[in-house]
Amino acid sequence: MNKVKKREKYELFGSKITVEYMDCVISDDPEHWIYGHCREHGDKFTIQISLEDVDGKPMTKDSIERTLRHELFHVICSRGQYINVGDDEPLIEWLSLCTFTLNKQGLKI
Ligand SMILES: [Zn+2]
Repeated sequence: MNKVKKREKYELFGSKITVEYMDCVISDDPEHWIYGHCREHGDKFTIQISLEDVDGKPMTKDSIERTLRHELFHVICSRGQYINVGDDEPLIEWLSLCTFTLNKQGLKI
C-alpha cells in the first residue's frame, strides 16, 4: 500500500515543510518508482520519501536520510529563490552526500 506511514513537519523562514514517508513514491510522468520528490505549493513544501526500493525491499536508514537531505536541499534552494541551483541535480546530491558524511562523523549538520 502506498499510504503515508510517518509524517514530520518543519518550518523554514515562514515556509512549512511536510515530510511524508511512504512505501513507494511514484513520479508523475512517466510513472515510475523514485527515491523521493518535493512539491511546492506557494509557501508550503511537501517532500515524499520511499521507504522501499523498486523491488519492494526496505530502504536502509542511511539511504532514507540521504534522500531526505537531497529533497531538503531542493527546498532550501527554492525557498531562497536559488531556482537554477535547485535544478542542478548533481550539486544537490553532492550537498546531500557531503552533509550526510560529515554528520556521520559527529558534526551536527
Ligand atoms: Zn533532486
